[in-house]
Amino acid sequence: MSNYADSSGNGNGVLLRAEHLTKLYPDGQVNALIDVSLEIHRGEYLAVMGPSGSGKSTLLNMLGALDRPTSGETYFEGRPMSHIPNWNRLRAQKIGFVFQSFYLLPVLSAMENVQVPMFESPLPASARARRAVELLEEVGLGHRIHHSPEKLSVGERQRVAIARALANDPVILLADEPTGNLDSKSALGVFDLFASLHRQQGMTIVLITHDDELGRRAERIVRMQDGQIRSDTPSPGPRVAAGTPPCESPVEAPAGLHIRPGVSSHRPKSILPPFAVPDRG
Ligand code: ADP
Ligand code: MG
Repeated sequence: MSNYADSSGNGNGVLLRAEHLTKLYPDGQVNALIDVSLEIHRGEYLAVMGPSGSGKSTLLNMLGALDRPTSGETYFEGRPMSHIPNWNRLRAQKIGFVFQSFYLLPVLSAMENVQVPMFESPLPASARARRAVELLEEVGLGHRIHHSPEKLSVGERQRVAIARALANDPVILLADEPTGNLDSKSALGVFDLFASLHRQQGMTIVLITHDDELGRRAERIVRMQDGQIRSDTPSPGPRVAAGTPPCESPVEAPAGLHIRPGVSSHRPKSILPPFAVPDRG
């Protein structure tokens, strides 16, 4: 669990702090966010839930430096975002994004898609390729590295997108309805993947979902309505339903995880939980 001792936003505790964010979209005069304040600590896994139109994506866009608030401020690792000159670099170096519509490039293989964010990295081409393969192995797609997106199932496409989001070793993953286009089995697989990233690598994750059952797999649930945060509570945890795979109980990292030398010292070789089976359709 993360260190909650520091709430100043300058130390190890708080990674992102939104203060009194409002967002007024000029066309239609929509108050998409109204005085929203939120702290996200390093290592947290939080789900943002709420009805369609409640402001979830707008909030995520503010947290991920994709859009500017009308008023208020977001602090990233203690720095006011309005003082950060290059948001492109901030996003590229620090933030991994996963969206509902995977946004994979159809003419590129899985391996090439994962390398897209690395094109500006100083790594030589061979190291980038090696890293892409390792990331695909981590998400359970080591057997699909040369497949183009159209030859992958939707669940596998989203796994490629997650591997791509991890390419530059971000400090936070922001996912906007990542399972919105997936069947329930693939959706569960993607949630298992996020849970493993969180548990085994301490990844900070903010995930929007409208699926109550999946959202309960996060450790904290922020509920929005009409542009405001209505509740912010620890997750009660998933309900145990008949036929549900045993992924709701905490899964510890398997003993003897391989730590990859070189590129990223803290990542295990595979983040798949032992029960996970790569989805096929
Ligand atoms: P959610 O992700 O919870 O469905 P959004 O953050 O997308 O909600 O939208 C919140 C509100 O802002 C909605 O009323 C939506 O129609 C409006 N909205 C979102 N994006 C824009 C935009 N670019 N221009 C105008 N209105 C927008
Ligand atoms: Mg949305």
